[in-house]
Amino acid sequence: MSNFKGKLLLVEDEPAIGETLQFNLVSEGFEVDWKRDGLTAFDALCSDANQYDAVILDLMLPHLSGFEILARIRPLAERLPILVLSARSLDLDKVKALELGADDYVTKPFSLNELILRAHGLVRRGQWARESQRTLQDTFKLGGAEFSPATHTVLSAAGEKVKITPTEMLLAKTFASNPGRVLSRQELLESVWQYSSGTETRTVDVFVAKLRRYTDSNKATESAIETVRGLGYIHNPTPGTAS
Ligand code: CA
Repeated sequence: MSNFKGKLLLVEDEPAIGETLQFNLVSEGFEVDWKRDGLTAFDALCSDANQYDAVILDLMLPHLSGFEILARIRPLAERLPILVLSARSLDLDKVKALELGADDYVTKPFSLNELILRAHGLVRRGQWARESQRTLQDTFKLGGAEFSPATHTVLSAAGEKVKITPTEMLLAKTFASNPGRVLSRQELLESVWQYSSGTETRTVDVFVAKLRRYTDSNKATESAIETVRGLGYIHNPTPGTAS
């Protein structure tokens, strides 16, 4: 199949949503493995997470919740892109899912086009993560943190070694490569999440907050990544405080 875009694991217990998603994603060229409960999905991921290019994960599921799947699978499959479907509009749930390692979320009811665009983006980002295993090997600094793409780790300003996902790594790399330049949310969504223009999400803000926890020591008065109101973010390599 020349049109093949990638293999997705779809985890959704509501039949109507699952059927609609499966039908439309297959028409887009994806192969879709649809699991209807958390435990079956978890089993599939445990047996071979590498068979999937991305996961679309509902949060409220029978037997094992999307949160529990994230918490258990992320340490085993750090490169796998995961998009969360949240039935709740609660910001806390979205933040919790992103904290547990999801790459992005959409809130139900979502637009089908929007979801398909994000699925394409996540699969592309997953392919980037595989490529970068070979090309992005050198460690780099951002603020007080040192990032090591080869090992998927960051040595934080506080001296803690933490495992991070490719999305966090690519976001850090993007800031490190563009010192003194304002990067808009839209630019970041395009270059890091591989989304086409027009996508709106607060995901960037949650990821920047995560990065700051690595890059900023608690004594720092200024962040390595400053917010530019109404525009986006800027990495200011402050002279004198570097190294
Ligand atoms: Ca559900």
